[in-house]
Amino acid sequence: EEQKQFLSGFAFGSDVARAVSNLPIISGSGSPTGTTLKVGGGASTIDGSVVASRPEMLALQAQADAEAAGKKLSIEEKAKREKNPLDMWDEIIARSNAGTFPKGTDVFLTKFHGLFHVAPAQDSFMCRMRIPGGVLHAWQFRGLADLSDRSAGGYIDVTTRANLQFREIPADQAAHILYGLRDVDVISLGSGGDNIRNCTASTLSGIDGTELVETIPLAKRMHNYILNHREMYGLPRKFNIAFDGGGKVSALDDTNDIGFHAVLVTPEHASEDLLAGVYFQLTLGGITGHKDFARPTGVLLTADECYEVAGGIVRVFVKTGDRTDRKKARLKYVLDDMGFDLFLEAVEKQIGRKLRRVDQSRLSVPHNEDRSAHVGFHLQKQPGLSYVGVVLPVGRITSDQARSLADIAQRYGNGEIRFTVWQNLIIPFIANEDINEVDEKIRAIGLNTQASSFRAGLVACTGSAGCKYAAADTKANAMAIAEALESQFELDQPINIHVTGCHHSCAQHYIGDIGLIGCKVERGDDMVDGYHIHLGGGWGDRQGIARLLFEYVVAEDCPQTIACIVGGYLERRQEGESFVQ
Ligand code: SF4
Repeated sequence: EEQKQFLSGFAFGSDVARAVSNLPIISGSGSPTGTTLKVGGGASTIDGSVVASRPEMLALQAQADAEAAGKKLSIEEKAKREKNPLDMWDEIIARSNAGTFPKGTDVFLTKFHGLFHVAPAQDSFMCRMRIPGGVLHAWQFRGLADLSDRSAGGYIDVTTRANLQFREIPADQAAHILYGLRDVDVISLGSGGDNIRNCTASTLSGIDGTELVETIPLAKRMHNYILNHREMYGLPRKFNIAFDGGGKVSALDDTNDIGFHAVLVTPEHASEDLLAGVYFQLTLGGITGHKDFARPTGVLLTADECYEVAGGIVRVFVKTGDRTDRKKARLKYVLDDMGFDLFLEAVEKQIGRKLRRVDQSRLSVPHNEDRSAHVGFHLQKQPGLSYVGVVLPVGRITSDQARSLADIAQRYGNGEIRFTVWQNLIIPFIANEDINEVDEKIRAIGLNTQASSFRAGLVACTGSAGCKYAAADTKANAMAIAEALESQFELDQPINIHVTGCHHSCAQHYIGDIGLIGCKVERGDDMVDGYHIHLGGGWGDRQGIARLLFEYVVAEDCPQTIACIVGGYLERRQEGESFVQ
């Protein structure tokens, strides 16, 4: 009965109705499709002598459905069935002690622990952490800086999920990194591979007078929910969750698989079954690399309901996601296949109750975004206090700078350091009278609190300096573009430039005012780095997918090409006309 209940609503890649009516149940003898299902590299069979756990049942069911449909599971799915990546700790430590890197599909499986062997770009590991809500304390940041000096490249990268990464980790240092992270109360489990990635929130949570609700505590609670439900690790592909409190700095929730966006129900729109107050609008299926934003579902949730519903959504995705084609394995494709209504019905069935649907006309949606609020000094809602947004050129910071910032946060702030999805960081709770002193101290370590209109929204992925998928050196090229623009123009509005190295779109080129994606360009007998240049992307109120303007522009020509675009705009714009929309 329990199996029946759990598998109810199970579909593979499409139709819930079909799945519910034709459910093959894994029973004590034989396999649902008549094929022999194997677990653990063929060592065991589901034949009555082996009791399958729930995740195993799901995996077997997916395999059975794929076989029934004449499709083959992807290499990664097969690898996960051969060996549960969550049980690889001993193996990873032993391999590190022997000074070797993983081989074959173990490279993929090791990513479940946050370790990415990034050869051939670099013959070393990259380690991605989980920093829920993007918040660390000074002692942790200092510890991470020391750890990077000892076992990685001596610097730390801030990612577009308000997260941190170490690079240049030799094989024999991987174990030290994993142990060292735990020493500073940071974990990396599930930061790579087919997992729910770092949960993000509005970076000014709790200090922004315009927000409706604090969201960093919610991201932390979601993080703990994930860590403590093992079935949250059985996904067909990666998954993103964000909370936006409706304040000045966007969490880019509409680019996530699940976005929770704070809205208000005012007393005049309240009723007996919908009390006035703050709720979260549920949006689903964002994946801008595939040109889609998270779409509204009409579902309204209280803060406490978000975890249960997110858990339900993930469980339905685990059952319905495509495990044969990695390009179609994200939530968006399940939604495209099933439609929102059927998908939400499956979620309701999963969580055992109806979701609250509320017409948009009853909601007040805040429009407080200030695209410059993540950089420079700004007043907090707490009287007499300010925060500072420190600019980190394309998200990189040396260990020495990290230690100095930790000292500043401890001495002048409350010890918190907050990373943003804009690849920079914020130090909150600075007394207004200390602003000048803090500014001087930040400049003294080679960083800045002010950025040009081009640099404040400059985002770049790792690129060919450290990622094997990259077609170009994104970070270096992004810096060259910003420098070229700064030397020629002064702009009265922020322009976001997003430079991404490949179709994975880690720097989300489709939402940039100017978005570049790396490609190779033929020049004479050589293939050189280049980009396709897009214009007109946006998020939130200005939501839009950037359109292709120029193809195959050689990387070294990009600064000039983009300067021509900006120059053309400045020359011809009409009064009040913004750059792209
Ligand atoms: Fe690597 Fe591509 Fe992501 Fe850039 S976008 S970091 S090149 S996977």
